Amino acid sequence: MYDDLKQRLRDAGRVLVHEGLGDYVAGHISMRLPDRPDQFLMKPAGMGLDEMTIENIITVNLDGMKTDGPSPRHNEVWIHSEILRTRTEINSVLHAHPEAAVAFSSLDKPLLPVSNDGSIFYNGVPVFSETTDLITTRERGEAVARTLGPEKRALILRNHGIVTCSPSIEETVWIGLKLERACRIQLAAEAAGGPKLLVREEEVAAKAQKANRADLHTNVFNYLVRRSACPYCDTKGRGIRID
Ligand SMILES: [Zn+2]
Repeated sequence: MYDDLKQRLRDAGRVLVHEGLGDYVAGHISMRLPDRPDQFLMKPAGMGLDEMTIENIITVNLDGMKTDGPSPRHNEVWIHSEILRTRTEINSVLHAHPEAAVAFSSLDKPLLPVSNDGSIFYNGVPVFSETTDLITTRERGEAVARTLGPEKRALILRNHGIVTCSPSIEETVWIGLKLERACRIQLAAEAAGGPKLLVREEEVAAKAQKANRADLHTNVFNYLVRRSACPYCDTKGRGIRID
């Protein structure tokens, strides 16, 4: 059942690892079931994001309990269950530990519109700083969902990682990739003495709108799925593998 959805979730996991958002067997992504909105598909524990298959993906309910599937669930399931419970328009949640975002979170600085990527976060990215520990209880999951609030689709967990969410899995992945890249570019600017020029204030909203469209999310996702399946590319999609 739900083979098409599971295939999309599996593709998302492969793209995330291929684009550098993997952390060995940590990190997870979920998708709400359209006809059973109190249940969601999720990556199982104990394997890489890129090792998901239609057979091993698990189903979990909004109480964080596994209802189907052969594999164990992540102990940070609460990030997913509490966001999906409180944000009924959200259908997909990603949690990852990407390097640039984690390093950036240690600076205690706001994310700035240094680049196109940073522009889409011009309204601010909330930072969860109640703990730097893992989110292994429902109470912590509730606190993360509270910090995210009723509208935001991205959050930084201080000294830990990121959370992104959206009505679509394509946008959830896209926001995660953009957030990591925005952090990496600002880190580079900070290391070179700090950014002195930013995207103009009067341009940032228009730029963010142009760079944030459903057709773009889908096109980027499908492109990255194709790229992650290329046997002749390295993990950055560059065609340098020779064998
Ligand atoms: Zn984590």
